[in-house]
Amino acid sequence: MTSSARPYLNRRLAEFGTTIFAEMSALAVATGSINLGQGFPDTDGPEEIREAAVRALRDGRGNQYPPGPGVPELRNAITAHQQRRYGLTYDPDTEVLVTAGATEAIAATLLALLEPGDEVVALEPYYDSYAASIAMAGGRRVPVTLRPDAGRFTLDLDELRATVTDRTRLLLINTPHNPTGTVLTRAELAAIAELAVERDLLVVTDEVYEHLVFDDAEHIPLATFPGMRERTVTIGSAGKTFSFTGWKVGWVTAAPELVSAVRSAKQYLTFVSAGPFQYAVAEALALPESYYDGFRRDMGARRDLLATGLTEAGFEVFRPAGTYFVTADIRPLGEKDGFAFCRALPERAGVVAIPNAVFYDDREAGAPFVRFAFCKKEEVLREAAERLRGM
Ligand SMILES: *Cc1c(COP(=O)(O)O)cnc(C)c1O
Repeated sequence: MTSSARPYLNRRLAEFGTTIFAEMSALAVATGSINLGQGFPDTDGPEEIREAAVRALRDGRGNQYPPGPGVPELRNAITAHQQRRYGLTYDPDTEVLVTAGATEAIAATLLALLEPGDEVVALEPYYDSYAASIAMAGGRRVPVTLRPDAGRFTLDLDELRATVTDRTRLLLINTPHNPTGTVLTRAELAAIAELAVERDLLVVTDEVYEHLVFDDAEHIPLATFPGMRERTVTIGSAGKTFSFTGWKVGWVTAAPELVSAVRSAKQYLTFVSAGPFQYAVAEALALPESYYDGFRRDMGARRDLLATGLTEAGFEVFRPAGTYFVTADIRPLGEKDGFAFCRALPERAGVVAIPNAVFYDDREAGAPFVRFAFCKKEEVLREAAERLRGM
C-alpha cells in the first residue's frame, strides 16, 4: 500500500493525492499480470539516438546547465521540424522553449497564463496532469465531454461553444487524444479555431502524439488555422515519438510574448533539464521520413493486434485513429463499472488496464470505458489478447 498524502496535502491538490497508475502497477506486480495500464514502450527508441546521447555526455555537451530556452541545436531542430511537416515558421531564438517533457510544458503554460479563478475549457476525458496543473495555477477546469458516436469519441461543437463564457481564459486541446484515440478532423479543428478567434481565447494544444496517426487520419496542428498562430501554444515531446519517455524532453512553440510568459514560469520550476539528451533529440528530429513511417506502421500493427484481441474477447472497441491507447466499452461483457472491472481484471485474466473514469469529472460518463496501451512488444500483446479471450 502507498501511504496517504491526505494529512498534509493542501486543498488545491487534495483530490490528486494518489494516482490509479500506482495502484494498478502495484497490482500488476503482485499478480504477475501484463501491464497495459501505463503508456510507456517496452522497447527503447533508435540505437543511433541513444548513441547520440552517449556521445553528448562523453563530449561534455550539456553536462552543465544548458541555456534557459534550450540548446540552439534542439531549438533549430524543432523549428525545422515544424516547417518541414506543417509549413509553420517559428524563430528558434524567440518562439521555442525546451521543457522537462510535455508535462512541464503544460504546467508552466498554465501557471504563466492563468489568473486565479480563470476557467479552462478542456476536452474530457483529459490527460491526468491537466486537472492537477489547472488546480496548481488556481484555475477552474470546465470539461467538454467527448461522446461515443459511430465508433469514435466525438466532440460536440455546439456544446463546446456553449461552454465558453466570459470567464474562459483558454481552451486546452489534445489531438491525437489520450485516452480515446480520437484525432480531431480538419472540420472540428476549424470550428475550434473559429471559436477561439471569435471569443479571443488563448489555445493550448497538446500534440505529443502528432506522429502516431493511423490509416487515413491526419494530424493537423491548430496553429496552422487562420488567426491561430498568434494565440496558440503548441506542446510537443520526444518521449512518445522516439520511444524515450524517460528522457523528458518536451517543448513549446508559440509567439514570442507567449513563449516569454511560459519561460517566466518554467525558469522557477526546473530552470533547465536533460542537457545531453537535448542534443540527442535534435538528431532524432532530423531522422529521415522513413523513421516516422516505420514507427507509425509498427505501432499501427500493434494497434490492430490489441484491438482484434479485445473485440474477440467481447469488448466493444473504439478503434483509435491515433496515440497508443485503445479505449474499450465493457458493457457487452455484462459489466458497467470500469473501476471494479480493472481492479478484478488482474485476478481474472492476468492483464492490467486503466478505468477511463479517472480521466473524467463526470464519472458516470466514463464509467463503462477502460484503456489499454499497445506500445508493447508484439509477443506481449499476443499473450495479453490470449488471456483476455480466455476470460
Ligand atoms: C505522455 C503524455 C504527456 C507527457 O509527456 P512527457 O513528455 O512525458 O512529459 C503529455 N500529454 C499527453 C496527452 C500524454 O499522453
